[in-house]
Amino acid sequence: MTENGRLRVVNPATEEDIEEIATTSRKDLDRTTERARQGFEEWRGFAGLERAELFHEIAANLRGHADELAELMTREGGKPFIENRDEVAWTAACFDYYGEIARDNVGYLPAPIEAQQLALVIKEPVGTVACIVPWNYPLLLAAWKVAPALAAGNAVILKPSEETPLATRRMAELIDGLPDGLLQIVYGAGDVGEALVRHPGVDMVAFTGSQETGRKVGRAAAERLILANLELGGKDPFIICDDVDIEIAAQGAVWAACLNAGQVCTSSERFYVMQNVADDFVEASRSYVESLQIGDPMDERTDIGPMINAKGREKVERHVGEAVQRGAKVVAGGERFGERGFFYRPTILTGVEPSMTVMRDETFGPVVPVVEVGSLDEAIEQANSVPYGLGANVYTRDFEKMLKCMREIRAGTVWINDPLTDNDAAPFGGQKGSGIGRELGREGLEAFQESKHVHIDPKVEKKEWWYPYGPGEEPGQRTM
Ligand code: NAD
Repeated sequence: MTENGRLRVVNPATEEDIEEIATTSRKDLDRTTERARQGFEEWRGFAGLERAELFHEIAANLRGHADELAELMTREGGKPFIENRDEVAWTAACFDYYGEIARDNVGYLPAPIEAQQLALVIKEPVGTVACIVPWNYPLLLAAWKVAPALAAGNAVILKPSEETPLATRRMAELIDGLPDGLLQIVYGAGDVGEALVRHPGVDMVAFTGSQETGRKVGRAAAERLILANLELGGKDPFIICDDVDIEIAAQGAVWAACLNAGQVCTSSERFYVMQNVADDFVEASRSYVESLQIGDPMDERTDIGPMINAKGREKVERHVGEAVQRGAKVVAGGERFGERGFFYRPTILTGVEPSMTVMRDETFGPVVPVVEVGSLDEAIEQANSVPYGLGANVYTRDFEKMLKCMREIRAGTVWINDPLTDNDAAPFGGQKGSGIGRELGREGLEAFQESKHVHIDPKVEKKEWWYPYGPGEEPGQRTM
């Protein structure tokens, strides 16, 4: 939350203030971008192996401070400590991965036009990259941008969410050995993010956040004709076929909907269950949900912590409230938990309709709305019926159905029988309105590179297709 140039960081489990920090002013941004440019020039002098060694040291240092970073993330963001410790491990792994693959990705040699010539494609850094991230995975989502951007040779200015600046600030202190100015953090809300995207010292923006903000960022970047990589929201479908152990599918479904209190970009938010197993699925989900521990996210036994803030919880209440008003039934949850903190009970809804908000807009809360379907075709058609396309989940043992879902579902990731598992080595991002571009994998590095074609002819000779032109030339002899 920002007030008078200050960020007030609140613990969502207790609603108590943790700390106030100063936001970055426009004048500060001039200095930040200048320092980034100097850091960028110095970074050119580092060989690939030197960069990789630094990245491995960064990863080791983050692992060595996993508990401290996880505690900060838990206090400012409310995600259970146990999940935040995993997040630090994944963040470190991302630095290890990009330190190495960047050494293997500096360009390639296409066949030249004439045999004696040499054609080179050189991969170059873009310059200074603004990385703007949300609050739900503050370190991991920063690393998915910062590690490949730096590995590709860029300077980075990182803006954490106004909700969760503290773990990011600590991570930056733990990142040692980079040239001065190469990685800097700026603090503030949307106004600081916007000023950054519009600043002439910024050459590219890599953004993760909501679709609504993504549109604004995309527009501002288009006006300046700078590259924009956009990772946006989702409304992921989850299809359950009748050939699987329904108990396991229900537990996978509840986990995929309720992880981080449903505040994951790839949270499953729409459940399409074959009619003949739907009652069993709802019953198994209900009993699993009722066994979950809600409460203090620092307690290692806690499964579900609070939502990020009052606004986030009110959105969930609105979606559930509208569904109930229009005839949906609450099988579990459907209400707040506790006196303090922004907790919301994991909720199961049946009798939902495709036109309800809870089935169309991103809810970003722990809700499992269940729709019965008569066939896989119907499930896929409904899965594809919203303007989002981030991830999708399917439970089936039938290989033919797996292939059908793989081909026909429009999403950046399709998970079959293992919900929400990310892989550093494979691209992540959205189709349709869920984004433009990819993170992770080779694509996640290439997103931060420009291609330069260099064409070398070692012989200095007049070419026969230059002036003067004569009659009777064969088509195709000229190069252009
Ligand atoms: P948000 O869009 O409100 O904010 C994201 C970031 O953008 C914050 O740092 C914010 O300060 C900044 N910002 C706000 N207005 C801006 C502007 N005009 N110009 C530049 N920056 C601006 O999102 P949030 O509430 O922080 O995060 C939740 C959203 O993020 C959800 O929609 C979720 O699905 C999405 N998300 C997507 C992914 C993905 O990889 N696709 C991952 C995590 C979260």
